[in-house]
Amino acid sequence: MTKQNPRYKQPSPRSGFETLSTYDGVVGACSIDLSDNTNLWGMPPSARKALEDFSFADVTRYPSAYTGELKESIARYVGVDSSMIVTGCGSDDVLDSAIRAFGNSGGTLTCCEPTFSMIPVLARINGLAARAVPFDAEGDIAVDALLSAAADIVYVCSPNNPTGSSASVDRINTIADQFRGLVIVDQAYAEYSAISLTHLVADHSNVLITRTMSKAFGMAGLRVGYAIGNPALVNEVEKSRGPYKVGALSSTAAIAALEHDIPWIEQVVDQTLTVRSRFVDCIQSLGYRPLPSDANFLLIPTENATSVANRMLEAGIGIRSFRNLPGIGDALRITMAPWPMMEQVLTVLEAQAQ
Ligand code: PMP
Repeated sequence: MTKQNPRYKQPSPRSGFETLSTYDGVVGACSIDLSDNTNLWGMPPSARKALEDFSFADVTRYPSAYTGELKESIARYVGVDSSMIVTGCGSDDVLDSAIRAFGNSGGTLTCCEPTFSMIPVLARINGLAARAVPFDAEGDIAVDALLSAAADIVYVCSPNNPTGSSASVDRINTIADQFRGLVIVDQAYAEYSAISLTHLVADHSNVLITRTMSKAFGMAGLRVGYAIGNPALVNEVEKSRGPYKVGALSSTAAIAALEHDIPWIEQVVDQTLTVRSRFVDCIQSLGYRPLPSDANFLLIPTENATSVANRMLEAGIGIRSFRNLPGIGDALRITMAPWPMMEQVLTVLEAQAQ
């Protein structure tokens, strides 16, 4: 019998990794990408200028370990002290770090489903089970079901991806009051919503609000996310995250946008909401029934979601199709974009309706 050479032995990943796969939400090549809820109005002008003026000599240096200056700008933008901010390489990184810091190995994260598809994955990567419970009949978060899951972490996404719906503030408050573990409130789409939740972190030392510069701020490619929470909570997330997670170019552009481009962003958000209501009217007249949305996308339940998404891709337009979403069924998720792009979407939907 030949002895196996230990040099060629395939190492085993952590237990549980065999059921995980890499991210599959990327659509094929397309000229208009409406699949990932990013900002198709472009990037903020001051951020662009800051990148053009960037001193490339600085690239040989490490960036700030924990982004002190960026945290100051974010803190001013959201109206809290900078000790209440932690940043990361996108809010995915902040969510991952928070779950790692507050979820015990073998513990549980609970959330209502359907929600952001990365959440169960981030839970499992960090050794936690993800236990999803249904939304209630009105589409709001189911407080009792979330509280009775005996979890380490409750995750609430508001506005929720992929439904676009907001959780009621009273219910988030109840969870924050009664739950003993970490409550993550994912507000990636906060800028599109009229509901501010920042006050929650002042009243509750167990609430962490995560936000991003990938959506309304138009800088998904730069990967800047952050969270707002009690300083002690934020400090644990920062330990888990580690140093140097936001590159120098990304920080520079993000600071420029926060300091100079808030009016630009507000005006883009206004345009997005105008497009959304106009698009809703148009697709309703084609017989579609989109879910009410507080975000820059619409979820449209439809039985032939896969074939519509394929037709769109043939026309050069990327949208997301979902199969069997709990309580919803098959559905399309379409990002709102400048109206000429939405007209191209309508052309495909009209052809499909005939
Ligand atoms: N949360 C939600 C609800 C999202 O939809 C997304 C991106 N699709 C993220 C977090 C992560 O965004 P990012 O890592 O780009 O900040």
